[in-house]
Amino acid sequence: MKILVLNCGSSSVKYQFIDIDKSYVLAKGMVSRIGMSASVLVHKPHDRPEITISGEILDHIVAVEHVIAILLSPNHGVMKDKSEISAVGHRVVHGGEKFPDSVLVDRDVMQVLRSCIELAPLHNPHNIRGINACMQILPGIPQVAVFDTAFHQKMPPFAYIYGIPYILYKKYGIRRYGFHGTSHFYVSRRAARIMRRPIEELKIITCHLGNGASMTAVKGGISVDTSMGFTPLEGLLMGTRSGDLDPAIILHVMAREELSLHEANTLLNKHSGMQGISGVSSDMRDIIAESQKGNTIAQLALDVYCYRIRKYIGAYAAAMGGLDALVFTAGIGENSPVVRKKCCENLEFLGIQIDDEKNEEAIRVETEIQTDDSSVKVLCIPTNEELVIALDTKRIIEEAKERKEMHKGL
Ligand code: ADP
Repeated sequence: MKILVLNCGSSSVKYQFIDIDKSYVLAKGMVSRIGMSASVLVHKPHDRPEITISGEILDHIVAVEHVIAILLSPNHGVMKDKSEISAVGHRVVHGGEKFPDSVLVDRDVMQVLRSCIELAPLHNPHNIRGINACMQILPGIPQVAVFDTAFHQKMPPFAYIYGIPYILYKKYGIRRYGFHGTSHFYVSRRAARIMRRPIEELKIITCHLGNGASMTAVKGGISVDTSMGFTPLEGLLMGTRSGDLDPAIILHVMAREELSLHEANTLLNKHSGMQGISGVSSDMRDIIAESQKGNTIAQLALDVYCYRIRKYIGAYAAAMGGLDALVFTAGIGENSPVVRKKCCENLEFLGIQIDDEKNEEAIRVETEIQTDDSSVKVLCIPTNEELVIALDTKRIIEEAKERKEMHKGL
């Protein structure tokens, strides 16, 4: 079975075409600068070199048309006919409380998806655009929506309710939702595999440290708390997002600087985080390089970044009543020994001890980096959100087929 996985952003479409029975990526790529001048399609078939094509790609429909065309292309493609695509799995950022699991898209589902736009106005409209494009270009091929929020839907109410009037939760759905669910799900399962223990008996903290960053407490395989909240702004310090802060600061700054709602939103999402503190960059590589050159503000940004992760490790160990494994993943988690070491400093009392040599060697590989004495396993696990989306898409279409067969038999 071959599944096309699509991740549609405001001006980009990332794709992977996966033979799911072999867990093998046949081709992957990305269309960027959609709707701008000089759009670009970068495509990498599994057995041939990467190619880059430039042109004008006006919208998501045209972008998906280009993706299908390149997958069919005699020189660069990996299929002969569209019908080889068994289903399309779409990453959808926000499913609210309506979607605790992935779902086969039909007209009713599309309507509910549209009702979730107000929860994620920056992300969901593009995800929906991608689904619409595929419905047009690949009629009859099942479309499955896989949500970043779904893994966190089993959190207990005391972890997701905020200390504001309860009526605001009832009226507007204001609660913690959490994001990066497919990544936290994947790396927690891989951790249990590596440890050769059933996930049901493990207490794991997963740290997804990319441009956006979040941590999750995974107890018995279930997300029981997570650092991102109603939106992806809460929690850790990120590339350009503030993470946790006193909400009164926003009111104060808006009043003093006479900011509009839009400007305040931009300040918190685009001009804060490591970029905001350091004034240097949102990229961890630049922050580390600058701090090594003696830039004290870049050093401060790095200190804030790692200190906050350390605080969350303590909080989540307490939330779960113990800890068996700590997992690092995504761009920074997979690549930065400096950050991993700093995040684990002074955590020996929790049973966390990093082996410096193993830590230095662990670059984008699945490996353990704790010392022999460490009672907590510390793992580096490259994330694979596309594989989770493809596997879930397969499960959902197989369940739908079974239901159809059952109804036939009735
Ligand atoms: P996204 O959230 O966009 O998917 P990624 O998971 O690709 O992001 O992570 C991007 C982050 O990873 C950037 O901050 C980048 O600096 C960081 N990163 C990548 N390689 C390294 C490295 N070798 N050392 C430190 N940070 C790195």
